[in-house]
Amino acid sequence: MSLAMRVEEKLYQNRYIVDAGKPHIAIRPHDKPSENLLAMTRICPAGCYAETSSGQVEITPDGCLECGTCRVLCEASGDITWNYPRGGFGVLFKFG
Ligand code: SF4
Repeated sequence: MSLAMRVEEKLYQNRYIVDAGKPHIAIRPHDKPSENLLAMTRICPAGCYAETSSGQVEITPDGCLECGTCRVLCEASGDITWNYPRGGFGVLFKFG
């Protein structure tokens, strides 16, 4: 048995408290996503972004690691609005 853990297994150790009805990241409505927004479907480490069958990008921020990648890439253009979750909600990291 290998002692090395896969990234997915490490991520599974974290816990996430959902702030129901108050997502901390929102995508601006669009017909066609910008290149940066589309890129988020491939680079978000938590897999929060997905492309719909009609070509738009949607987000499910449950499980967001608050890494800020999408904030850096998409907030200035207005593609998304980004805030930290309210106190007591969001990711709970388990280290070790
Ligand atoms: S902050 Fe990081 S983990 Fe959270 S949605 Fe953006 S890219 Fe994904």
